[in-house]
Amino acid sequence: RPAVALRVVGAGVPVPVAGGGTVPYANLDYAASAPCLEAVRDALDAALPYYSSVHRGAGYASQVTTDRYERAREIVRAFVGAWHRDAVVFTRNTTDAMNLLAHALPRGTTVVVFESEHHATLLPWGRGSRVVRLPAPDSPTAAVAAAGEALAAAPAGPRLLVVTAASNVTGELWPVAELAAVARAHGARIAVDAAQLVPHRPFDMGALDVDYVAFSGHKLYAPFGAGCLVGRADWLRAAEPYLLGGGATVSVGEHVTWSADPQQRHEAGTPNVLGVVALAAACEALTDWDGLVAEEERLLRRLRTGLAAIPGVRELSLWGDRHPRVGIVSFVVEGRGSRAVATALSEEYGIGVRDGRFCAHPFVRRLVGAGEGGCGDGDGTALRASFGIGTTDEHIDRLLTALRQLSR
Ligand code: PMP
Repeated sequence: RPAVALRVVGAGVPVPVAGGGTVPYANLDYAASAPCLEAVRDALDAALPYYSSVHRGAGYASQVTTDRYERAREIVRAFVGAWHRDAVVFTRNTTDAMNLLAHALPRGTTVVVFESEHHATLLPWGRGSRVVRLPAPDSPTAAVAAAGEALAAAPAGPRLLVVTAASNVTGELWPVAELAAVARAHGARIAVDAAQLVPHRPFDMGALDVDYVAFSGHKLYAPFGAGCLVGRADWLRAAEPYLLGGGATVSVGEHVTWSADPQQRHEAGTPNVLGVVALAAACEALTDWDGLVAEEERLLRRLRTGLAAIPGVRELSLWGDRHPRVGIVSFVVEGRGSRAVATALSEEYGIGVRDGRFCAHPFVRRLVGAGEGGCGDGDGTALRASFGIGTTDEHIDRLLTALRQLSR
């Protein structure tokens, strides 16, 4: 029996390599977008025959489609341990979810955010809010202390601490429970970017006392186009609709009455029903966390031990080798440009990794040790190998062999 029963679509798909011929693709770029689960594809197959309009149609197919769409909210709610009274707003992705939350903040909110965030979580704040940007902290304890100090120094009014649960650069887990407690102690709310956590670990916002969580379907083994913002309904209910148009209204005459339902209010236009069905199917499929985590930890040890043994390869980490992390590892190859290595991995070995700054420019610059202009140790970029369901020992070993050859 395989360690993980779930399977992904397209495992071992052939890709061309230099010199002719093909090899089975070694996809080590799950943190960008994970492959689709077979269970998700099956859910889409089941939904397609009833493909029809959502919310407005009276026909049977329309009712089935509407039912699936609304049921997806409950599945997502259960997946992240949300309260019944929390809103589940479907968005395009995590970026869209964070922008929706930024849009919904009461005027004058102080937002505290670390510089180590993905740009989706670093950049949306500031229109109508006061933003306090903190440097990447030296330890989890320092993160909690810095957040506490910044919140304590904030002027009277609403406060929001925004933080990632697992770094898209180092995979390191952030102390979400402790940060939620410090937010609460200062009368602040906390929003968590769980884009890189939920494909790897269970998340329970009720138990963690988290106010908002955002994630994307395409990193959670569902196809592109759907994500969500889950959390407290009051600010969302009070905010102007995120998009103006049909579906968000109650009545339109000389005056427009917008829906007071925080979900309808911010979901104008025909939603991405199939994306949402897929996202919910992924949430339902991911249940065997013990098995998933054990297999991931095993592969992670294999990868990290192998990398550490290759001269010239340096793994990036904020909080040291021993801090727990998910299946995401970034590294530099001394003396070699990341782009050249990534291209060689693809063209010569059929391996897909990511190179660059991973939409976290300030953080990667700091970890790599390069200046703004790209001078210093290399060009300020890195390589990232990330994996999950469907990844095998052979994929990891192929990467290690390739890096041993390329780093010579
Ligand atoms: N946050 C994190 C931690 C991410 O890794 C990403 C995607 N790389 C995002 C947010 C943005 O996700 P999306 O592109 O789906 O909006």
